[in-house]
Amino acid sequence: MPSLVDWNNCCGCGACANKCPKNAIRMLPNHEGFLHPVIDSSICVECGACEKICPGFSPAKSGNNNPKAFIVQHKDDDIRFQSTSGGAFTAIAEEVIRRGGVVFGAVMTEELTVRHECVDSIAGLARFRNSKYVQSEIGDCFIEANRRLVSGQWVCFSGTPCQINGLYKYLEKDYDNLIAVDVVCKSVPTPHVFKKYVEYKKTKEGDVTDVVFRDKKRGFLYCTMAHYLSHENRLLRNDCYRRGSESDEWLRLFLSGKISRRSCTTCPFQGSDRVSDFTLGDIWETNIPGWDDNKGTTLVHVWTEKGIKFLNSLKGEVKIEEYSQGIYKGINRKCGIELFKDRKQLFIDAHNLSDQEFFAKYASYSFVVKVKQKSRFLIWKCGLHNMVRHIKHILIH
Ligand SMILES: Cc1cc2nc3c(=O)[nH]c(=O)nc-3n(C[C@H](O)[C@H](O)[C@H](O)COP(=O)(O)OP(=O)(O)OC[C@H]3O[C@@H](n4cnc5c(N)ncnc54)[C@H](O)[C@@H]3O)c2cc1C
Repeated sequence: MPSLVDWNNCCGCGACANKCPKNAIRMLPNHEGFLHPVIDSSICVECGACEKICPGFSPAKSGNNNPKAFIVQHKDDDIRFQSTSGGAFTAIAEEVIRRGGVVFGAVMTEELTVRHECVDSIAGLARFRNSKYVQSEIGDCFIEANRRLVSGQWVCFSGTPCQINGLYKYLEKDYDNLIAVDVVCKSVPTPHVFKKYVEYKKTKEGDVTDVVFRDKKRGFLYCTMAHYLSHENRLLRNDCYRRGSESDEWLRLFLSGKISRRSCTTCPFQGSDRVSDFTLGDIWETNIPGWDDNKGTTLVHVWTEKGIKFLNSLKGEVKIEEYSQGIYKGINRKCGIELFKDRKQLFIDAHNLSDQEFFAKYASYSFVVKVKQKSRFLIWKCGLHNMVRHIKHILIH
């Protein structure tokens, strides 16, 4: 009999399903739309491999808690435009491909679902660029990465901190030919509500096939959610929808933490003991002349000697500077999210209400929101947006 392990600490990384020697585990959505392991007890031999491998039961520890921090910008402006911040991820991934390796990362499919894929060409890296604010499905990528690593091929594996911890638990050892990259991550939201958001928007915009969560057409400091009818339209910057975090329903729900995975509220992987070689995050302002050009900069934490050596080999492709005041920026459990008090009702509503009713209740496009949206746009049009952000930054920090 299949039984769903709907356990609060499960991060959904899928290490258990990848590891099960009997293939008795499938990752299926729970009532909130997050993937959880479903065990077929008619096949399961209770060997305990799944519990041993689960990072929720016992996270992999590295002892690497003495990082160096760097600010990084890819030298190619187009790559930087398509990336969330400075395009450091692409620079790392390109070097792995140049070494004959493969890269695993999260892509947005044409059906607008998010899943991990493996690519072996520099052109293929384009679909990894930009953060997808939806939990990505790992599938059998850990099995595939292990196969490549054992054969001696270079592998770059990128993902959220829980996914990278799950990878290490799955592999049970480090490899010299593995470059593991995680991101600063507050939480991941549910694919179920994202599907609802997509349906809601499609009724107004037609057949959208590409969504960018941090589009830079208005600059890095005014990143916006953008929708495109095709990937080609995206490359031509020909959008059919654009709204900022003050008004887009998805960004507002994501940033509020209301639709995040339950395990994100107690995440043990966000802290300063990382198993990855690199942790990538946004840096909004450096105040270093020549860096704050509003095109985006990645803050890169390097946790290992292997990472430092690898970073040195990227110098031709990136602008880079050590940035010691950035150490531990974003790498802090306290930066996480809290459980929404009406969470249970929200997910009941996600099943029972129409798309329109659901978003009207939880992220309504009200008069106040419209005023905020118009004012922000106007401030940007008048060329005052960066100054306003700068003042806000000084006040907050
Ligand atoms: C869900 C999520 C939340 C984040 N929250 C923060 C934050 O609060 N503060 C902060 O400073 N930075 C955050 N980041 C990281 C940041 O947005 C950038 O990813 C980082 O700055 C790297 O940017 P880049 O320009 O170097 O590369 P990009 O080209 O933007 O790199 C994208 C990388 O992120 C991976 N990725 C994208 N979406 C997902 C996903 N859904 N699941 C797993 N991996 C994914 C890709 O595989 C690729 O490795 C978050 C990223 C994600 C995915």
